[in-house]
Amino acid sequence: MEKNLISIVIPCYNEEESIHLFLDEITKVASTMQSVDFEYLFVDDGSADKTLEILKNLEKTDDRVRYISFSRNFGKEAALFAGLEAATGDYVAVMDVDLQDPPGLLPEMYETLTEGDYDCVATRRVNRLGEPRIRSFFARGFYRLINKISETQMVDGARDFRLMKRQMVDAVLTLREYNRFSKGLFNWVGFSTKWIAYENKPRIAGTTKWSFWGLLMYSLEGITAFSVRPLAISSVFGMLFCALSFISIIFLIIRWLIFGDPVDGWASTVTIILFVGGIQLFCTGILGQYMAKSYLEGKRRPVYIIKDSSDKKD
Ligand code: UDP
Ligand code: MG
Repeated sequence: MEKNLISIVIPCYNEEESIHLFLDEITKVASTMQSVDFEYLFVDDGSADKTLEILKNLEKTDDRVRYISFSRNFGKEAALFAGLEAATGDYVAVMDVDLQDPPGLLPEMYETLTEGDYDCVATRRVNRLGEPRIRSFFARGFYRLINKISETQMVDGARDFRLMKRQMVDAVLTLREYNRFSKGLFNWVGFSTKWIAYENKPRIAGTTKWSFWGLLMYSLEGITAFSVRPLAISSVFGMLFCALSFISIIFLIIRWLIFGDPVDGWASTVTIILFVGGIQLFCTGILGQYMAKSYLEGKRRPVYIIKDSSDKKD
């Protein structure tokens, strides 16, 4: 009988310290799963360190290793997409190289897919150990907000670590948008997903690529990519202020009829002008976000550009 193939997609950006450690771990796990074949598909996301060099060497010694290398840093989302496109497996897993996604879970995940009716096993972390408090606070807030305003539900603490059947991978690949927010895309395509939880683990080596600001921008991306509710909110603001000003006009006319026309209250007038001006800019800003996104989508630029890969042999 033909063995099933599991592709493991691993985005790497300046990860020279972690790659060997990761490969050791995953090899150990693979040796316990004799009934399947593996391919490890590393995506070098334009690293400036020795990542690509290490990958090239590994590819020579380990025939499960394949790599793709980008012409510059395109971001993890682009790396994931490239990996999914290049993966040939019947099952495809997505994992970080820093061992924050424990490879030890793979046998259990694979079993769930082969035995049950699930199309995907995804992971979430039950705690946010080793993460700054303030970051956890904002992360929770983000999930509460996005689940309120978007039809695509997102799981709090969800990792990108997941194992999918080929059919679901193909579905994700049909979504060719430029602004990729994977956590949403994986849910958007549907299919039945089993969630398993594990304790958060600190990075094995190297440092995280996320700054607080980066995460904030990423969450805005998630909101604009999966909800147009903010646009509706700005219309509501508009209506609200029209109604308020109407009431205010009537009030002023009545006051004028009763008390005459004293010119006071300029301070409150200025405050109101500033306030309304602020709201207007805020709403224009929201509109701008969506316009910018559709502008970028409209250009139809590729999500990534490959400079080198293990398949490109001369
Ligand atoms: N990564 C990437 N491109 C980037 C940033 C990160 O391919 O521009 C990879 C990185 O090498 C790692 C994974 O994405 O394998 C997760 O990155 P990181 O550990 O920095 O994120 P965190 O775990 O802190 O969310
Ligand atoms: Mg990490």
